[in-house]
Amino acid sequence: MSHIKVLPDDLINKIAAGEVLERPSSAVKELVENSIDAGAKKIQIFVRNGGKTEITVIDDGNGIGSDQLELAIKRHATSKINKGNLDQINSLGFRGEALPSIASVSEMIIKSNVNSDQNGTLINIVAGNIKKIAPTNQTKGTFVSVKNLFFSTPARLKFLKTENYESLLIKRIIQKLAISNHTIQFNLSINDKNIIRTNNSRISDDHESLKNRVSEILGKEFLKNSISLNQNIGAFRFSGLLGIPTFNHSNSNNQYIFVNGRIVSDKSISMVFKLAYRDFISYDRFPQLILFIECPFSEVDVNVHPAKSEVRFKDTNLLRSNIINLFKETIAKAGHRSSTVNTSKAINKFSRGYVYQNSLKLKTEVSKEINKTNQENIHDKNIQDSYVEEDHAPLGFAKSQFHKTYVISETDSGIIIVDQHAAHERIVYEKLKKDFYEKKIKTQILLIPVIIDLDKTTIENLRGCYKIAEKYGMKIEQFGNESIIVREVPLILSDCDIKNLTLDLINELIEDNDAKPLETKIDNICSKMSCHGSIRAGRVLQVDEMNDLLRKMEKTPYSGQCNHGRPTYVELKLNDIEKLFGRK
Ligand code: ADP
Ligand code: MG
Repeated sequence: MSHIKVLPDDLINKIAAGEVLERPSSAVKELVENSIDAGAKKIQIFVRNGGKTEITVIDDGNGIGSDQLELAIKRHATSKINKGNLDQINSLGFRGEALPSIASVSEMIIKSNVNSDQNGTLINIVAGNIKKIAPTNQTKGTFVSVKNLFFSTPARLKFLKTENYESLLIKRIIQKLAISNHTIQFNLSINDKNIIRTNNSRISDDHESLKNRVSEILGKEFLKNSISLNQNIGAFRFSGLLGIPTFNHSNSNNQYIFVNGRIVSDKSISMVFKLAYRDFISYDRFPQLILFIECPFSEVDVNVHPAKSEVRFKDTNLLRSNIINLFKETIAKAGHRSSTVNTSKAINKFSRGYVYQNSLKLKTEVSKEINKTNQENIHDKNIQDSYVEEDHAPLGFAKSQFHKTYVISETDSGIIIVDQHAAHERIVYEKLKKDFYEKKIKTQILLIPVIIDLDKTTIENLRGCYKIAEKYGMKIEQFGNESIIVREVPLILSDCDIKNLTLDLINELIEDNDAKPLETKIDNICSKMSCHGSIRAGRVLQVDEMNDLLRKMEKTPYSGQCNHGRPTYVELKLNDIEKLFGRK
């Protein structure tokens, strides 16, 4: 029989560290949040080796008194909870867990002083054990240095990603903190390189100050492409910048959400954004936005997550519908209207485009066989022949295009409406994927190579990616310290916006997708790329182009649905049309 024991403090701290500190960026977040809570006006962050060997945070805040330093590194010791009340938290920290957690798994030095003289105090802790407390010439503010994080928990160390990826995560955290705290000056240096450096501007208007900071941190493009939001609804205040629908992104990384000043990364809120933008942007794209939600303490519980990155609202449904309505109104006001008329009766009669999949499957099997012998021309010819053997084109012949987006085609038994973009995207996707697996993506050398400016961290993260990009027909090289140059692209994508294509591709390559199977990654990349090479909605098509599209659809597997599962065409049978008009 084993006996139940209370665990020793050092073990308790290590366990807490496991929850509070997922990776170096979590330690950075906790330390900088402490500086913000201390009323700092300027915060400097120095990081080495992705935060694994060194994280140093220096602030000019209120400091910690010499008699308080030992307490500060004790578990559940905090100066931030008043009268034992968890419902009135107006600081970022409140759990008293960060310093003891970090101290238990690293070599830590804190130097601090509450006065403006040089008589500060230093404390040195190694793996949770105090090694030294001594006077030091620290002036008002706090200096925290964390070396060899996780050295005493090798298992955690093993789970960390590459130095570059950890650095990227640190940069993202500082970006968020700097946006939310736009009156505080932030400097971030990684391996002695300046990564973020904000100015010390004193703009009194809150929203103007935010805009200034956003252009420093995210660039002017974000400002140009977003709409200001400032609205009170009931006890809630919503403010920030909403990206216009066309300024969308390939993932949700550019969504900055703050609840009462706290960085929140809540999947359910991101889902609400999707719903709010649903009518305006495609299903697989993400709006870029900055949203501050402010509300009374009674409306939100912040104590639901050890790293405090999730919160729980009292009335989630109300919040959801408020966000959706507010966003829709704001976007509409900016002139990006979308209206949908539902003639449900007719819609019920439309059948989605899977009609020819069976005959297509057969063709695909044939084509696979032929592909084995690697004779694409014969394969193409064979498909054409098999189609000519048949006595008609199953998807009919184009009659006209309407709203520069849809093609109407007349078939033997009715009409078909094709979404030109979705259909073409599928065709490009299938071609790209097939060519990728067969290692024969035809490329086009760009007459004028495209140079794209990026930040240093992204460049570092791209190092291993150029070879992979080449497999997809994209020849990209580093160009100087902060740019890349695109020299070749797949032939079928040569007419597209090369910059946006490249940015989407590198976003996909950089993201840490280790958990996904290789096949899914390939699908994702081909899908992202094919979106760029496709005939856009809004492009006028000539009749022969429309017919060409129809014929290609007939030859392409799964062409009845686009890469995202929506139909690429719908069919209305003559029989049903007659019923709609009461003829039958
Ligand atoms: P919490 O932030 O939840 O209170 P921490 O473990 O992060 O817990 O910090 C413990 C205490 O140490 C804080 O409550 C605060 O009083 C003090 N402290 C930590 N960092 C700083 C800092 N940079 N400046 C001033 N005080 C600090
Ligand atoms: Mg804290």
